[in-house]
Amino acid sequence: MSRVARVVVDLSLDREFDYLVPGELSDALQVGSRVEVPFGRRTVSGYVVSFVESSSFPNLKPIKAMIGKKPLVEENILNLARWIADYYVAPVELAVRTVLPSAVRQTSARFKEVNIVSLTEHASDLEQVAALRRKAAVQGKVMDALAAGPVSLPELTAKLGAVSAAVRALERKGFVTVGSRVLRRRADAGHEVLPTQPLELMPEQAAALELIRQSVDTGDPRVVLLFGVTGSGKTEVYLQAIDHVLKRGQGCIVLVPEISLTPQTVDRFRSRFGDTVAVLHSELSSGERHDEWHRVHEGSARIAIGPRSAVFAPMKNLGLIVVDEEHEHSYKQEEAPRYHARDVAVMRGHREGCAVVLGSATPSLESHSNAQRGKYALARMPHRVDHRQMPVMRIVDMRQEMEKERRLNVLSSDLYEAIRARLDRTEQTILFLNRRGFATSLVCPSCGAVARCENCSVSMTYHKPTHRLLCHICGAGQPVPECCPNPDCRDPAFKYSGIGTQRVEDVLHKTFPKARIERMDSDTMTKKDSYRKVLNAFRGGQIDILLGTQMIAKGLDFPSVTLVGVIAADLSLHMPDFRAGERTFQLLTQVAGRAGRGDLVGEVIVQTFTPFHPAIQAARTLDYDGFLDQELEYRRELGYPPYGHLVCITLRGAQEELVKLTGATFAKRLQEKLDSSVRLGGPTPAPLAKAHGEFRYQLILRAPHTKQMTAPLKDVLRDFKWPDAVAWSVDVDASSLM
Ligand code: ADP
Ligand code: ZN
Repeated sequence: MSRVARVVVDLSLDREFDYLVPGELSDALQVGSRVEVPFGRRTVSGYVVSFVESSSFPNLKPIKAMIGKKPLVEENILNLARWIADYYVAPVELAVRTVLPSAVRQTSARFKEVNIVSLTEHASDLEQVAALRRKAAVQGKVMDALAAGPVSLPELTAKLGAVSAAVRALERKGFVTVGSRVLRRRADAGHEVLPTQPLELMPEQAAALELIRQSVDTGDPRVVLLFGVTGSGKTEVYLQAIDHVLKRGQGCIVLVPEISLTPQTVDRFRSRFGDTVAVLHSELSSGERHDEWHRVHEGSARIAIGPRSAVFAPMKNLGLIVVDEEHEHSYKQEEAPRYHARDVAVMRGHREGCAVVLGSATPSLESHSNAQRGKYALARMPHRVDHRQMPVMRIVDMRQEMEKERRLNVLSSDLYEAIRARLDRTEQTILFLNRRGFATSLVCPSCGAVARCENCSVSMTYHKPTHRLLCHICGAGQPVPECCPNPDCRDPAFKYSGIGTQRVEDVLHKTFPKARIERMDSDTMTKKDSYRKVLNAFRGGQIDILLGTQMIAKGLDFPSVTLVGVIAADLSLHMPDFRAGERTFQLLTQVAGRAGRGDLVGEVIVQTFTPFHPAIQAARTLDYDGFLDQELEYRRELGYPPYGHLVCITLRGAQEELVKLTGATFAKRLQEKLDSSVRLGGPTPAPLAKAHGEFRYQLILRAPHTKQMTAPLKDVLRDFKWPDAVAWSVDVDASSLM
């Protein structure tokens, strides 16, 4: 009996299909092979995900052909995809898709080849060459250009004009050869970095490195949580751990959050390890991505660095995965499969017997409790390198400020004075506000009406450069109304309230007309290189004040920044989310960490309306443990992570009653299958109750173990009849409950 292959096809289908393996392919075909299969009346492409002895389906069709010789997805990565599909309750096909970037998956994806021209031995015959020069000047010029070594044809053309005829003539005469070579497309071409040597480690760093090395060297490594304050030199520890792994002949993956995949971060790895670093990043062109991925696949790059999807890098003989800023929420994918890259990294490390390092100045409560329970090894680095001081944080109570000034200023007098002093001393300032736009809403002073988006349950943000209102959820825009939109009111004094980065920029220009100010948010960083440009200018001292959203909060290391100002610390605090406190604490600590990284002591000024909130106080006093105790108690009472797992099911649709009713029916079905340790809440309107014209309802499940929720959930999902007008999604270990 012939074998049967399970194939996931390239269409958005949530299933594996069985096909017969034809005799002539039975040796060549492997798990991960790309194939062409008959599908209805069409032929489609897909991947083999497994082989089985027999199928429960009759009349199987055979696989038509195999595409390419080597499988693109290795079995270990496919198994990881299967685990993701299972754990996160996502279609296998989506999970398989996720582990293989589209730039690689497309059949049209190819290497780029160029013609390389080089001199032959014949070219050293001086007499012949002299004769050639007299007769054919262009050919002589080509020979000169090649004197220092082979040059590609496009480069020759760029330098000398149309030369292909001359090159062909030279080839005929035997002076040159033309060969083709794969051209590596790279985003950082022309951007050179200076090589660096390993630094002599501080004692805390040395101890951390030792722990990681031990973990790498045992065959059964433990996860190491590297808990080091900002500026404690975590990156140097990663670099030396990686060096150790490379010397053992193994490869590494380094995960960084989306927002800190700055040129600065990548450069630190490139300057230590050079070309063996591959960058896997969604902002590369698809050609660049294709090439970088294949450099890892073929083994010419032994370090892969990138955001969450880099956890699937096809690195063979993996020795170490580093997850930098492991607490970052951008590691969670917000669309199916909703995987958490840190957790996938731990799983991959476990399966491939490779060490995993989770680094952070503010570890997630999950990782910290794993360390406390002894599941992870803990390396603590509570001091900054070279005994540099942690910045001093001052809290400004904006309620008092408002009373004193009789109005709400963007800059409190303390922050104003502090910036003024920096400008006088030509030191630099970073100002942080996690909200773009000019004003967060338009409010009517008479009736209180707010300009809202028609499609979403949020107010519209005013953008000054375009003088329009914009919805930050769905992107809808409209002109600014002349007066209050309430037909009974129509007050023309309809005015802006709430501040965004554009407004802060305006105020700064008016207050400090001579200062050089740059704003960094997704409205200004629209070009591929704008980020690098602004950061270079800031590093070079051409900018005095850098203002921005969370883009500037992480990972930046500028020695002459001595002041960090947080314009409004309350923004993240009042999010309707159980992680709001944790997030605020993390954000403040990270932002504050940008100050005082050089020889000068740093100062941090935080403006807030809730100065005594535990998250804010803990960030001020650098009291991670105190904050943790308090936060953990609250989590324990409610059974929130890390004291259990959480699954959020969101239903949405244009007809509110139908969404609600469907939610209730689903909840009832689910409840029948749940054991008593699972808590089910809802359906209740989601905090973001309406988005893109759809009403949103949530069901929240909490239980000690994920399987207690996902197994019955899959059961119900298998035959639940969803109305066409209701869409749904499942988020296991949801990081945000919006
Ligand atoms: P973190 O990632 O913990 O915030 P970094 O790795 O960015 O810290 O280190 C902060 C600064 O200290 C960097 O400029 C780095 O080059 C420097 N540094 C790190 N380790 C050492 C060391 N052992 N000796 C001297 N300087 C160091
Ligand atoms: Zn909207």
